[in-house]
Amino acid sequence: MKYINLFEKENVSKLCYGTLSLSNLQNFDTVENKVKLLNYAYGKGINFFDTAELYDNYNILKEFIKDKDRDKLIIASKSYAYDKNTAEYSINKALKEMNTDYLDVFMLHEQDNGNNFLGHYSAVERFMKYKDKGIIKHFGISTHRVEAVRDSLKFKEIEFVFPLFNYKGIGIQDGTFEQMSEAVKKAKEHNKFIMAMKIYGGGHLINEAEKAFKYVNSLSFVDSIAVGMSTVEEIDANISYLENNELNINIKNKIRNQKRTLVIEEWCVGCGKCVKRCRQNALRIVDNKCVVDMEKCVLCSYCAGECTDFYIKIV
Ligand code: SF4
Ligand code: SF4
Repeated sequence: MKYINLFEKENVSKLCYGTLSLSNLQNFDTVENKVKLLNYAYGKGINFFDTAELYDNYNILKEFIKDKDRDKLIIASKSYAYDKNTAEYSINKALKEMNTDYLDVFMLHEQDNGNNFLGHYSAVERFMKYKDKGIIKHFGISTHRVEAVRDSLKFKEIEFVFPLFNYKGIGIQDGTFEQMSEAVKKAKEHNKFIMAMKIYGGGHLINEAEKAFKYVNSLSFVDSIAVGMSTVEEIDANISYLENNELNINIKNKIRNQKRTLVIEEWCVGCGKCVKRCRQNALRIVDNKCVVDMEKCVLCSYCAGECTDFYIKIV
């Protein structure tokens, strides 16, 4: 495993386990099996885990953490908190449901730009108080937009930037790969910690996974890479890309066959809530039913959280 420093914390695995793939938005396996996967990854040297309030999977992290030395783990989470109360709710929920005393990183989820950040500033101020008490070690944002990465430079509070970043620019909402790359590079020059997400473009690059991984991994301004993994083979594959090891042909074939897709159940009533939520413009209503354009979808699952009847699934 390749290890890096996350500010003062040493020996942080460069490969971060993105646990959206273990949330009920995407994965219907048992808690026990999901914890087994986390333990498998941990046994292979992964000690960095990313979650979110939206993923609703703190219970899985709690089970995983309970027999570990907490100080040897790095846990990142995020929420849509927009004021003091929602910030307090988010932090208390994360601490309680994961049964931990602190969070290594906490982010505002899915930020658009500096104005959007300022709109959440009373939450940010509360997060800073948690940081003063050591309850949050570092604070940041996650985003699918170039503008948010660029604007992160304006805010000293933002130490950690978690952008959508893949070599084809798939899913970037307001620009090209080159523009995102430039923004990320600048953020790094301003000492932000950079963790790339969606390096496989929400599954679109899965047939060229090795190339996609190695490209992002080769960039000196990317500190860490978060990948959602839902099988042992995916964990093995990502570790072998990171370590430049030859990947077993059986694993290669299994990964190719694991391409996921978004399914909308026939019971959809066409309410359109999910359509409004999708910033990738991948959803529309046709004949009172929601339909997805998989060319645009990055499998972020944000829409699934909107459908209270659970008619949207990633399988
Ligand atoms: S939120 Fe659910 S019911 Fe409404 S359009 Fe989307 S899939 Fe259909
Ligand atoms: S359709 Fe849903 S999963 Fe796909 S990009 Fe839009 S919000 Fe994300």
